[in-house]
Amino acid sequence: MSQREWIEKDFYKDLGVSSSASADEIKKAYRKLARDLHPDANPGDSAAEERFKAVSEANAVLSDPAKRKEYDETRRLYASGGFPGGGFQPGGGGFSGSSTFDLGDLFGGGAAGDGGLGDLFGGMFNRGGGAGGATRSRPRRGSDVETETTLDFRDAVLGVTVPLRMTSPAPCTTCHGSGAEPGTSPRVCPRCNGSGIVSRNQGAFGFSEPCDDCRGSGSIIDNPCHDCHGSGVQNRTRTITVRVPAGVKDGSKIRLAGQGEAGLRGAPSGDLFVTVHVRSDKVFGREGDDLTLVLPVSYGELVLGGTVSVPTLEGRVGLKIPPGTADGRVMRVRGRGVAKRGGGSGDLLVTLKVAIPQNLDDKATEALRAYLQAEEAGGFDPREGWAGAR
Ligand SMILES: [Zn+2]
Ligand SMILES: [Zn+2]
Repeated sequence: MSQREWIEKDFYKDLGVSSSASADEIKKAYRKLARDLHPDANPGDSAAEERFKAVSEANAVLSDPAKRKEYDETRRLYASGGFPGGGFQPGGGGFSGSSTFDLGDLFGGGAAGDGGLGDLFGGMFNRGGGAGGATRSRPRRGSDVETETTLDFRDAVLGVTVPLRMTSPAPCTTCHGSGAEPGTSPRVCPRCNGSGIVSRNQGAFGFSEPCDDCRGSGSIIDNPCHDCHGSGVQNRTRTITVRVPAGVKDGSKIRLAGQGEAGLRGAPSGDLFVTVHVRSDKVFGREGDDLTLVLPVSYGELVLGGTVSVPTLEGRVGLKIPPGTADGRVMRVRGRGVAKRGGGSGDLLVTLKVAIPQNLDDKATEALRAYLQAEEAGGFDPREGWAGAR
């Protein structure tokens, strides 16, 4: 049934009832007319045959509360000039302002086969019609699930496999998500032939709407699974093992496709998003792909130079300090940082920081005094050349 026909035809008039007629009045009117106009009772009377067809058509719409509502709304909308573009040219524009449409809902079924415009009308009237829209439950992709995990610093840098425990809807183990009691199976909905969509199209125009019989799922479950009551979904605690790649940063989000909530009755699952938190480390810090650490050294080690042992994530390396190295200098140990995405690794940046002894014994104190005298005699003045010296 096209909208053009709906607007051109007056089903109430065909049945001889008012537009406010009750369901009972419509039923009675139809029965009487159908009896009177039946071709068996009027052989060879083509006018009666036409009337009979019209009455049947009118009854098919008006006896169905949902269709009647849609019909009424279509006519009301047309009468008020509410159709965008004011016309009914198939493929004509005018629907750009339909911001409330959910594209997934509109085109997700894809089985109507009569082009998008019919779907648009169907969607529009379902939404406007209330009852139709509210009961729709076409198989939908499961929701995305968010969870988080906290990793040790070293695990985050080197990569680690962690178990994640989650309680979320998952396909029912009893019916494997079909929603049907084991041993039975859902049958293809005879009304929509499994498409979940009924289209009523005549001529260029058509309506597509979710099938009422199967609520848009395309299948009918005669014996619902006793565990999930036909939904195909159960709440389950799952433990999944997630491999976190080396070098993950604090606050990163990892997407695991298909590990989210199960879709209803066999629809695809959603995705799982894991937000990764990284604990700080007592030794190492991180700047991008570089690791950082502060290495305590003695004054003597900076002055004389030498090799000191420095921790890395994998072990230790000897760091060469050149003689006369300044306090606070940053030494770079190449390739001992965080693994980079494209291969290779960042560096380990070692900041040298002089540790000042707090409790020197007599011998060391004496030696230090002797050293300072020698230093002065040798001509070293720490404040030489300093702007604040005099
Ligand atoms: Zn089940
Ligand atoms: Zn159906």
